[in-house]
Amino acid sequence: MTVEQKPAFKFRDAHAEEDNVDLSPSLGDEVKYTTCYMCACRCGIRVYLKDGKVRYIQGNNNHPINKGVLCGKGSSGIMQHYSPARLSKPLKRVGERGSGEFEEIEWDEALEIATTRLKKIREDDPSKLAFFTGRDQSQATTGWWASMFGTPNYAAHGGFCSVNMAAAGLYTIGGAFWEFGEPDWGLTKYFMMFGMAEDHDSNPIKIGLGKLKKRGAKFVSVNPIRTGYSAIADEWVGIRPGTDGLFIMALMHELLKAGKVDQQYLVRYTNAPWMVIQDPGASDHGMFARDENGDPYIWSTKDEALKASTDITTTPALKGEYKLADGRTVVPSFQIMAERYLDEQYAPDAVAEKCGLQADDIRRIAAELAHVAFEEEIELDIKWVDWAGRKQDKMVGRPVSFHAMRGISAHSNGFHTCRAIHLLQMLLGSVEVPGGFRIKAPFPKPIPPTNKPTGKVDHIKPGTHLPGMALGFPTEPADLLLKEDGSAVRIDKAYTWEHPLASHGLMHMVIHNAWKGDPYKIDTLLLFMANMSWNSSMNTSKVIEMLTDKDEDGEYKIPNIIYSDAYYSEMVAYADLILPDTTYLERFDCISLLDRPISSPHSAADAIRYPIVEPDRDVRGFQGVLLDIGARLGLPGLVNDDGTPKYPGGYPDYIANHERQPGVGLLAGWRLQDEDGDHMDCRGPANPNQLEKYLENQSFWHHEFLPEHTYYKMANKGYLEWAHELGCVVTKTQIVFHMYSEILQSFKLAGEGHGEHQPPEKDRERIKTYFDPLPIWYQPLEEAMTDLDEYPLHALTQRPMHMYHSWGSQNAWLRQITNMNYLYINRETATKQGIVDEDWVWVISPHNRIKVQVKLMDGVNPNTVWTWNAIGKRSGAWNLDKDAPESKKGFLLNHVISELLPPRGDGYRYSNSDPVTGQAAWFDLRVKIEKADPEEAAETWPQFDETKRPAGLKKAPDILRYGAEFKTRNKKGEQK
Ligand code: SF4
Repeated sequence: MTVEQKPAFKFRDAHAEEDNVDLSPSLGDEVKYTTCYMCACRCGIRVYLKDGKVRYIQGNNNHPINKGVLCGKGSSGIMQHYSPARLSKPLKRVGERGSGEFEEIEWDEALEIATTRLKKIREDDPSKLAFFTGRDQSQATTGWWASMFGTPNYAAHGGFCSVNMAAAGLYTIGGAFWEFGEPDWGLTKYFMMFGMAEDHDSNPIKIGLGKLKKRGAKFVSVNPIRTGYSAIADEWVGIRPGTDGLFIMALMHELLKAGKVDQQYLVRYTNAPWMVIQDPGASDHGMFARDENGDPYIWSTKDEALKASTDITTTPALKGEYKLADGRTVVPSFQIMAERYLDEQYAPDAVAEKCGLQADDIRRIAAELAHVAFEEEIELDIKWVDWAGRKQDKMVGRPVSFHAMRGISAHSNGFHTCRAIHLLQMLLGSVEVPGGFRIKAPFPKPIPPTNKPTGKVDHIKPGTHLPGMALGFPTEPADLLLKEDGSAVRIDKAYTWEHPLASHGLMHMVIHNAWKGDPYKIDTLLLFMANMSWNSSMNTSKVIEMLTDKDEDGEYKIPNIIYSDAYYSEMVAYADLILPDTTYLERFDCISLLDRPISSPHSAADAIRYPIVEPDRDVRGFQGVLLDIGARLGLPGLVNDDGTPKYPGGYPDYIANHERQPGVGLLAGWRLQDEDGDHMDCRGPANPNQLEKYLENQSFWHHEFLPEHTYYKMANKGYLEWAHELGCVVTKTQIVFHMYSEILQSFKLAGEGHGEHQPPEKDRERIKTYFDPLPIWYQPLEEAMTDLDEYPLHALTQRPMHMYHSWGSQNAWLRQITNMNYLYINRETATKQGIVDEDWVWVISPHNRIKVQVKLMDGVNPNTVWTWNAIGKRSGAWNLDKDAPESKKGFLLNHVISELLPPRGDGYRYSNSDPVTGQAAWFDLRVKIEKADPEEAAETWPQFDETKRPAGLKKAPDILRYGAEFKTRNKKGEQK
């Protein structure tokens, strides 16, 4: 491909010509299109090469995600690619774990070591392999590989990141906040954002906020800290951490009290009119009453009779008591919901102090929401047809919208808080409508999701694959993964009574459980891109000990650790075998609709990465290595009948030719239609030339929906037919939003003693308390067990806009922006303790202590301290200088966060997680601050021994120079 980005014009400047200065230089001699991987956003980029080297990165303005916008991280991909921390060859540990002593080995030997060990495990007990991946974007492949291996012990990092957000959304609206949906940026008039990190869905949100600002729409940011997005909000609501649910319920209280709810929307698109059985003590109390076909009943106001909810000829009642044929009472779920949130415990006056807000502000925000939703309704002159064939003349929108992320998710009450935001949206009639919150394809999906977790005891057999994917969505207690004695099937205890809806697993518990042998011992921990000995673990210092701890026989308690990473991250030193990955500019990747999609609400999209440059080291893309190991193991789906590899061309071969179901592969674009070789999108036979088609189209595929399919996707006939064709939904019938969750009620009933599957006594109260069909608010679990007078402050981390987790602080350009972190304290709070800017303090939690330097600021909740996440590095890791600011002045809050809750009465310690989903409760942390002695000022604590550079990793230059070779010379021969 030749450079098409030639300067459109040349500056005319006499002096420039005289000095031979080219004011519009060419950016390179070749341009290639791929997908950025400097954060999870996955923008389209143009990479300019000069003499075969990466010269410049630019946003691709044809790409649906970023439309040409590129952030600082994206530009700095050059320094990620040329990082001196890159690993260069497979490594075998030769010293003690943690010592950093490795020898370089050839790939054949590395693959032989891995395969021999994994073969033995698979023939003995496949669950002895625990395979967990970090922030990779290939879970459609890695998850499938794990199920072919036969282990239930698979998950990615969602359990410590955002499973509350995902699960609450998928069980409620069939979609989710985060990158799975977005506000209708072009039409929304009032936007509320809860607890967003600035590095997620980064460019789309920045572009969207720009649109809001331009139109003068109001932007309210609810966040204890006023940085990043919050800094440009029209109103900052500096809420106390962990109380967002209460605030939302107070908004619902106000809307219900004022009668400002969209009844028509609730009746048409939610289960608000479905009849709930009122028979306390009965095994079906709180469940929906259903007819003989299993359809929930509604009360027909026209016929004055119970009818199936699918009856579209009537108007259902939203309140009242009705009788079933057996004489029992039923009421619409809306009535139960309204009674709950109209209770005075949710009145603004009752919650304001707990939330750290003014009651009048809560009332005003509720009134503003109601005003915009109902007085500023918008109509689009677009005809559409609903699922039942009813023709609609226009699309009506309530232009208020919401978005939320980790600030909500990372609390132990986060699942219910996330669900509460979705209920608020439903009351306002603002999901999937013009101006509201919109879900991105292939979502919305059916509620409940149809894929259940796999890994029942009889699914796990030596030498056998699982019958389905390990991760899924339980819909009743029978779906939990328990052994006959009630113990966990999975090493992370996902899908047990402790965390029943743990649909992303609990990666933060894997090392602890594997070390302890609870629920059992494993043999091999296979990790990919997960910095578990540092910023990705709670209780980091102790995790380091667990990784090196030995049993009485002198063997490591976690016997074997295989790790793949492109860089010398802190985790490398703790592995026994390293499989070095490539950088994102050197490999194939697949951004699939089966995984975390890059679609928009009005289009479906997927994309690839491909090698822009060949690696100059002996490294291989992890996905290809995984497929290679799978073929050597003879895993089903990876070998032909004669035992030869099914995808000899490696990962690109797999991307193009693997089918998950007939006609459904990893990429939706340019599939084959017929034997003549015509193409079709979405579903069709695999096309061996598919990747070439992607390359011709700048590495992405994009399918724009017709305008009449763009909104109301949960009930839009045309959209549902398309989604059904693609395989996203199993039927073309409406996806009804679950305002009231019968699934949660089924677990509650089990806790109350009903049904065949009941929790053990130790978990019974927990299930009864935290499984509720409607959102509840409770004090975060750790907080409720902490002396709050002793530990008065909340402590949070945030990720800066210019870094993505730990990836950025080894990047020479991004390090120039931030190479150490402070603890930020509210100015007044600090002053009361006599603390001034740049003082050193101890941050003490009930669990541990760290020493850090502080900065004072005004835009933070007075009860909250915070810092940037993952800037702190271990000395020597990432090939940084041993005295780099990242290790001497940077720090991790992780050391003071425990992965376990304090012991309860009988001594049992649950994981520090949401009791519904198992989401890591990073943000429940409580601390106190004590001024450090002057002689303690100088460096952060704890400090760790310097990690030695492994074999093959050259010392990084003192000054990292980039681009000198691209400089041209003027007539005088001087470089310029
Ligand atoms: S937002 Fe993320 S994916 Fe997009 S350019 Fe920036 S770093 Fe790359």
